[in-house]
Amino acid sequence: MEYISTRGDGAVLDFEAVTLAGLAPDGGLYVPRNFPLFSGTEIAAMRGLSYVELAVRVMLPFVQPSLTEGELRDLATRAYGRFAHAAVTPLVQFDQQHWLLELFHGPTLAFKDVALQLLGRMFEHFLAKNDDHLTIVGATSGDTGSAAIDAVAGRERVDIFMLHPNGRVSDVQRRQMTTVRAPNVHNIAIDGSFDDAQAMVKRMFVDSAMTGRFRISAVNSINWARLMAQVVYYFAAALQLGAPDRKVAFSVPTGNFGDVFAGYVAAQMGLPIERLIVATNVNDILHRALSTGDYSTGTVTPTAAPSMDIQVSSNFERLLFLVGGCDGAALAQQMRGFEANKAMQLTNMQREGAAALFSSARADAGDMTRAMSWAYEKCGQVIDPHTAIGLHAARASGLDASIPVVTLATAHPAKFRDAVERATGQRVQLPTRMGDLFERQESYVELPGDYDAIAAYVAERATPSS
Ligand SMILES: *Cc1c(COP(=O)(O)O)cnc(C)c1O
Repeated sequence: MEYISTRGDGAVLDFEAVTLAGLAPDGGLYVPRNFPLFSGTEIAAMRGLSYVELAVRVMLPFVQPSLTEGELRDLATRAYGRFAHAAVTPLVQFDQQHWLLELFHGPTLAFKDVALQLLGRMFEHFLAKNDDHLTIVGATSGDTGSAAIDAVAGRERVDIFMLHPNGRVSDVQRRQMTTVRAPNVHNIAIDGSFDDAQAMVKRMFVDSAMTGRFRISAVNSINWARLMAQVVYYFAAALQLGAPDRKVAFSVPTGNFGDVFAGYVAAQMGLPIERLIVATNVNDILHRALSTGDYSTGTVTPTAAPSMDIQVSSNFERLLFLVGGCDGAALAQQMRGFEANKAMQLTNMQREGAAALFSSARADAGDMTRAMSWAYEKCGQVIDPHTAIGLHAARASGLDASIPVVTLATAHPAKFRDAVERATGQRVQLPTRMGDLFERQESYVELPGDYDAIAAYVAERATPSS
């Protein structure tokens, strides 16, 4: 598969290059030049495959020729072997129409494990081949940091430096990062907010003293390989519910538009998807963009679903490119306008293209609590606040009762157990595999919110690129 940037710089990369690069040099995001298309017969033949075999079928066209089928199978087998459920992403029933796709059986209890466990192994594979070394630098307010650390802990040729705002992440989230004991994992608690941490990471990416010596990479969802890995569970769920003979809708708790974009990719590959529902909390830039065409940022309001508390959704650019006629030059200009004004208007073509598959809904704190109580009282299911926002949107969608609607469960309820307890009265236990989290020893350094101190810390410990 060949990949191009959404901002039209013209270079064509293979899968290995886009995986190691993350962002394109023109500031755009990589997308496949075209989408592999499966026929109904080919999709029907995927019924009954194990998750790993399904993953190989769905991903192989995207990774060739950088990976052989055997290499892909080996990486997927090892990545999904770390999941605590034999089905990897099991589907659970709510009622006649509504279903729950549990994406939280990975090592850190959030759906990000599905992609990152694979990505960490792909990094290791490509770096070994090139005899190179990667330095991952990231800032986290919670879920991404723990999933990325777990995915690369102990992997050869990769060091990870994860910044978190000191005292501002939950105890479970901090311990999930700081109790991973591996020499290539470096946790840094900085004095300051998440935005301060993020600003320092961004600065390191453009600091030639650092980029000249180290191959610095990010692990956020701008990385194409992450989105690709997420396409697989849309196929898995739809096949369970009768695809390709029956259409299925999905409701997706959304922040950076990565997870729901993977659903769009599945539809482009021939999976019959009736509708993709973008569920947001009160930080509703995507709901406004999809319902009125107004993509403008406001201030972030902290909610009980912190992984959705964002005002710019990086992956939305991929959709705007694909539904806007794949015109890189025009999109580059539109994005420059957005970066200058913190606002832009979608074109009619973008609006209509998006509306063909996407709808959206916004849930406030009351909607979220009611969805959590409904799931518990009517179906005996305890769900987390992010998932509850998805379920609210699913139930409000007004889709015909003949269409099954799958809500993506993006986090285990134990990860946000205080909010869950407030809504349902239930105190969720950490799964047994995490049970001793509060006894494990933590390891992290505390640094001032000062760029030079952090850059020096990284430079002393990272391995230069070859
Ligand atoms: C990251 C995350 C999301 C948002 O996913 P995007 O791909 O950024 O849209 C939703 N819920 C949880 C629990 C997350 O960790």
